[in-house]
Amino acid sequence: MFAFKASAQQGTHMFRAKILSKCAFRRKMSSRLVLGIETSCDETGAAVMDETGLILGESLHSQKEVHLKTGGIIPTVAQRLHRENIGRIVQEAMERSGVTQSQLSAVATTVKPGLALSLGIGLDFSLNFVKLHQKPFIPIHHMEAHALTVRMLQPVVFPFLVLLVSGGHSLLALARGIDDFLLLGQTLDEAPGDTMDKVARRLSLIKHPKCSMISGGQAIEILARDGNRLKFLFKPPMGAHYDCNFSFAGLRNQVTMSIQKKEEEEGVEQGTLLSCVNDIAAATQHAVASHIAKRTHRAILFCKAKDLLPSCNPTLVVSGGVASNQYIRKILKIVTDTTGLHLLCPPSKFCTDNGVMIAWNGVERLREGKGILSHTEEVNYEPKAPLGVNITAEVKEAAIKLPPLKLRVTD
Ligand code: AMP
Ligand code: ZN
Repeated sequence: MFAFKASAQQGTHMFRAKILSKCAFRRKMSSRLVLGIETSCDETGAAVMDETGLILGESLHSQKEVHLKTGGIIPTVAQRLHRENIGRIVQEAMERSGVTQSQLSAVATTVKPGLALSLGIGLDFSLNFVKLHQKPFIPIHHMEAHALTVRMLQPVVFPFLVLLVSGGHSLLALARGIDDFLLLGQTLDEAPGDTMDKVARRLSLIKHPKCSMISGGQAIEILARDGNRLKFLFKPPMGAHYDCNFSFAGLRNQVTMSIQKKEEEEGVEQGTLLSCVNDIAAATQHAVASHIAKRTHRAILFCKAKDLLPSCNPTLVVSGGVASNQYIRKILKIVTDTTGLHLLCPPSKFCTDNGVMIAWNGVERLREGKGILSHTEEVNYEPKAPLGVNITAEVKEAAIKLPPLKLRVTD
């Protein structure tokens, strides 16, 4: 779907070198350059990008394997791993880009929202870096970066609707400009990726030969392919709430109770792989997908009723780790086809956390001259930070009832 401007990291070393030397030449002629740094959760990422969105160099260290073994993110462990890796990751991105510190126009870094201890490492590193090299600093909102990434890959004009679903977030917003968002709905408890990670842990999927090295969400998607979702019926959350907020904790409770019941029936201890894991995975995935789809459907109808989307090519952008899920994408496609929206999902590599999306957000801000700081004394990180203007109450008040829509995926 996307034509990548950026392929420097995909080729051989010879190919890469050629691309970089051509880029270096073009860079001298025109483009400003941004270093982007991401440490808000469990990825240490850095990337150097030019003003056209060309990735000149990038590097990423994922902590996922470590956290998979401990059964979730331990903030002090995440902090230690960010501290151990950030210097190397930034150096690698710079070296791969062939850019020197003095050639950078600005440094953009995630400062909100996220884990305090993780954000702190990226911010400290960045503030030292900009002080040492005398560069402007661009503080980045992590969700804003997720929402804008699609514009690096193709020209998507404002306004567009955005759905962000990941391990830490779940929200629907209308993007009206690079720093202008209307928040239509958000999770009231946990994020869908977190729910699937917890269900996967409760099912001990780490013991499953197909799933030992992958995230809970991925494991559920893989197992669901061979499962029958109709063997377990989970009640969709918030059916009587005509808003765009999400809730996944109650659903997880239903899944946990079904797992307990099955363990009793099969006479096995918690921690044993159940014979029906595929069916549970399929039913869980369908319930998560349906809930996301219904809230998104309502958000589309709300935007249409309030004339918030353009009549020409109205677009839904979906991003975040959970957006990699093909089943969820297919269910969302049913919703966008029915409502006449264009569905855009960046490739998985750009849906998950990385330095590239932060560098791109820096580029967007640099182009518009927004939020570029030459003094950083006041800058701090913010673990909690809402995205845009919260109009969830207005959405609730509109109480839009959904027309019937069959959310049935056929392969
Ligand atoms: P992020 O929070 O954006 O780094 O993405 C990580 C989250 O996405 C984790 O909770 C994963 O379980 C979830 N995830 C990754 N791949 C998939 C997938 N294919 N299906 C569902 N969830 C996924
Ligand atoms: Zn994220």
